Amino acid sequence: MGLFDTIMFPKPIGCKKCGKPHKSTQTKQFENLMVTYSIGDMVPGNVMSGVIKETIFCDHGDIENKENYSFDQPIFLVIWHNILTDIVENLEEAENKLSKFSLGDLYILYRNLYLEKINYQVKYERFKALTRIFFEYLELPPEKQEKIRKGQDNTLDNIRYLHIIEHLDKKKPIEEIIKNLDGQKFTEKLIF
Ligand SMILES: [Zn+2]
Repeated sequence: MGLFDTIMFPKPIGCKKCGKPHKSTQTKQFENLMVTYSIGDMVPGNVMSGVIKETIFCDHGDIENKENYSFDQPIFLVIWHNILTDIVENLEEAENKLSKFSLGDLYILYRNLYLEKINYQVKYERFKALTRIFFEYLELPPEKQEKIRKGQDNTLDNIRYLHIIEHLDKKKPIEEIIKNLDGQKFTEKLIF
């Protein structure tokens, strides 16, 4: 099967031949389940700590001429206790990064992961709360729904509908809620 995983680079790596910046590469080093791995992720496989060689594919901006493609520019994945900690362009640097990986480096990975956790946690909690409010709204009698849509019913009991009021006239309110949450980045654990 032609499945693979994707590895996201911490910063773009330029093609040595044409300069085209690459943000990621495909790999068959792991489980080939179409998973995307970034720095800080735990990667599956038998390499506990070490360096894995991978390559970048480049069409050099000439998508017509397949003979011009290159597949062999090397990159090196640094893996420390199953965590993908860095991606660099030469082996010596990769080995150096692995041997010098410190508690400070681990802290930075942890902090990023923690912020990412908060972001997803808040999104999920908000999504749960907003969908609940939306389904409560659907249960209301039509005249009450209309009052809420028009902002004419802001009694304490109904004030929660203000969180979804902007989406109520849309064709697919739930999709609007998702789109709205996807467009935000939360750094604090505030549900509303
Ligand atoms: Zn190129």
